[in-house]
Amino acid sequence: MKSNLLFATQIYHTKLMTSHAELKSLIKDLKIEASQIQKMDQTGADWSKYNYMNGYTSYSSQDKLHQMSSTFSDLESLISKHVSKYLKNLDYDVTVKDLKMTDCWINSMNENAIHTAHIHPKSVISGTFYVSVPKNASQIQFQDPRLTQFMNAPSIHLDARFHNQRFISVLPNSGDVILFESWLRHEVSLNKSKEPRISVSFNYDWK
Ligand code: FE
Repeated sequence: MKSNLLFATQIYHTKLMTSHAELKSLIKDLKIEASQIQKMDQTGADWSKYNYMNGYTSYSSQDKLHQMSSTFSDLESLISKHVSKYLKNLDYDVTVKDLKMTDCWINSMNENAIHTAHIHPKSVISGTFYVSVPKNASQIQFQDPRLTQFMNAPSIHLDARFHNQRFISVLPNSGDVILFESWLRHEVSLNKSKEPRISVSFNYDWK
């Protein structure tokens, strides 16, 4: 007797590129530009003060960075290759050419910053590239999309098998890219790193 696993939720997680030297160089450039953007973005600083405590995000102010900087545009090209693979893994009958990166913004979480559960509206595929993940930095946690339907379902064992768990936390390394479908609810847990945890998030939507 065999149970089949149905209706998979796929999270794509890999290194952005294989060349260690090129990845290191890109991360270095992104770190410099992220710091420059943060310094000059007063609107983002004001927004973050009330909406992103202990951190800074350009989500509300500078969210088209792939159209403003060649470094971020290079990042977009590299990410699009992974989006292409992810769409194939999902068996969607579209290619990455049917979609475009619509938003691209930076996040810098200081100690005790948290990003509560959310989805990415008006998008198809979303994800994050990790620029800097210091020691004790937060994981990203994904929630089972069926949570609202469990009603009287029993709770599961703490050591439940991976595919039966309701919450999955992923600890990325700097240089990793994570992709997910934009409807998948996720959160970033309390950041315990002394150094900022820096990432670039993005959305792809229909062209
Ligand atoms: Fe998010």
